[in-house]
Amino acid sequence: CGIVGIVRSRVGVLSDLLKSLKSLEYRGYDSAGIAISLGDDIFILKGVGTIDQVIRGAEIPDGSIGIGHTRWATHGGVSLENAHPQVSCDGKIAVVHNGTLDGFEQLREDLRARGHSFRSETDTEVIAHLVEEGMREGLSPLLSLHRAVRMLEGSYAIAMISAGHNSIYLARRKSPLVIGLGKGENYCASDVSALLHLTKEFIFLEDGELAEITPGDVRIWRGDGELVAIERRAEVVDW
Ligand code: GLU
Repeated sequence: CGIVGIVRSRVGVLSDLLKSLKSLEYRGYDSAGIAISLGDDIFILKGVGTIDQVIRGAEIPDGSIGIGHTRWATHGGVSLENAHPQVSCDGKIAVVHNGTLDGFEQLREDLRARGHSFRSETDTEVIAHLVEEGMREGLSPLLSLHRAVRMLEGSYAIAMISAGHNSIYLARRKSPLVIGLGKGENYCASDVSALLHLTKEFIFLEDGELAEITPGDVRIWRGDGELVAIERRAEVVDW
């Protein structure tokens, strides 16, 4: 139901990530979760209930890249396993997704036949496994995500992190996704309001586009066919 992401040049995304997630609470949700990149590993904390319930009592490491999600279940019941982030077999790719994927069952069967095991019943989890396959074949995270989304049907706003990579990767079709611009840091969210405590400068992604955001850079591509880099001016949102 809601997505946020922050990438900074210094450690310390956790409190802003949680603040952003909480500002999406008004949309309603049944589960929540976050992923924080810690060098070669990704820390995941997720569960059923409110953000406060999910983080209560947990020891959460801080980092310089994080993504978060509030879920409104569409495929798979309300459970810990089905909460996002969803991860690849090796846990090195974490994905949050808003929207619904049509025909994902076939993709899941194909992935199972190729040796992938699934932890959840969500449509979302296929994305993490498809990206994992691409990266095992030597593709970059961005190219793997591009190849994956070209196999998807339905609606998606996706934010993804990959262990050891200092970027958040984005893709969008028929679900909103915006990029927020900061100084030495950048952000993403499903909704401008989630980032207003951090910035007023936004780039609005359009259907069929992918992006990669790092602390100092935002790059956007059209992804319907081959990736084609595009330029998009930022807009100042003054509410
Ligand atoms: N279809 C996904 C799921 O059920 C995402 C739902 C959402 O947008 O929150 O897990």
